[in-house]
Amino acid sequence: MLILPDFLIATPGDTPQRGWGVRVVDDVVTAVGANADLRRDFPDDEVWEAPGQVLAPGFVNAHAHLYGVLAHGLPLDKAPSGFWPFLEDFWWPLVEDRLDHEMICAATDYVCAEMLRSGVTTVYDCLEAPHSLPGCLTAQAEVVRARGIRAILSFEATERVSRENGQLGLRENADLIRSTRGSGGLVTGLMCFHTTFSCSAEFIRQAHALGRELDVLVHMHCSEGVHEPEYALAHFGARPLEYYDSLGVAGPRMLASQCVQLSENEIRIMAERGVRMTHMPLSNCEVGAGVAPVPELAATGVTVGLGSDGYVNDFFEVMRGAFLIHKAYRQDPRVMPAGQVFHMATEGGARALGLEKIGRLAPGWQADLQLIDLDLPTPPEPHNLYDQLVLWRSHVHVRAVWVAGALRVRDGVVLGADFGALRARTHESAKRLWSL
Ligand SMILES: [Zn+2]
Repeated sequence: MLILPDFLIATPGDTPQRGWGVRVVDDVVTAVGANADLRRDFPDDEVWEAPGQVLAPGFVNAHAHLYGVLAHGLPLDKAPSGFWPFLEDFWWPLVEDRLDHEMICAATDYVCAEMLRSGVTTVYDCLEAPHSLPGCLTAQAEVVRARGIRAILSFEATERVSRENGQLGLRENADLIRSTRGSGGLVTGLMCFHTTFSCSAEFIRQAHALGRELDVLVHMHCSEGVHEPEYALAHFGARPLEYYDSLGVAGPRMLASQCVQLSENEIRIMAERGVRMTHMPLSNCEVGAGVAPVPELAATGVTVGLGSDGYVNDFFEVMRGAFLIHKAYRQDPRVMPAGQVFHMATEGGARALGLEKIGRLAPGWQADLQLIDLDLPTPPEPHNLYDQLVLWRSHVHVRAVWVAGALRVRDGVVLGADFGALRARTHESAKRLWSL
């Protein structure tokens, strides 16, 4: 099939090509070129005409908590006063510790459909629900497969409940990694633990040893607020990245999400060791965490992806956050240009997650695609297209989405998704979560 739009973003961050499109065969892109050349070279192909639209790689949501949607609007007597109270008084007791399989599956199904609607074709999910072990990832994987989005699923193993619960969490990850390996399906796994303040050194080393053994990335939350650096300095005499480095685990296998409160030395460690990171601009604001030094990290060559963190799931809003927050914080409108943000939202996320052949549209790369309407009040041009997309588009402008060549959204409608039924299910789960 040929998809022939007005503009093509083949390599995110590079200048978009006017009047170019792609050829897709099964689950991969097989040719990229001028629309006229593709029509001439493949006259027998079915043609998907996309006038007034841009074809781009699907978004990679490089850090989500799908269950987080159930916390939207959860009644609170008083708002948490900082990052640590947010975890201790709110997120752990009122959300994560109460989750069961039905709540996890209801939220997963709704949010996957919602993300497809906003052009997301890949999501990395981090599930922390200590009382839903074992089997929560298997249940979640079934829902994700049926919805048809590409996903890396993981359980955020933690010793904050008990040592035994921590072991169950690591095993949950290992079981999913082994059961999905080589299956060729859309769902895979990785190794994941929580933080330096909820996991012992022995546990952290064990998680990394499992990551090496299973040849997967090892994910953790890192310095989301000032709490973790203060804890690490008090208990280990070093900041979190320095501590990880002293344990011998800081390297390209390490995927550190958040990284809001970093010292210059920690930025240096991340760059030198090849540590990957994901940036969550909106949820960093939500919890009063601070502003991550993303422009500095990117400038030193650290691979950066963007994530929703289970907060606002419209990925255009996440891009807008990344585009705007750093300009205000640094009082410099030149940082985080739209092309760089769009790269982080697509190929950057794929690189952060260690995914091969995802995030670009080139021969042999996966056909994870989105078509976005360009019915803008000013002309879309190669010089302004990233700004037009990052600033003035939202999920309602996504016309079509393909995951691995399979059509998932047509004319803005998520195929096979009954949002009324999906909502009824999440309402049921939310009411149960809130009233337990
Ligand atoms: Zn998170």
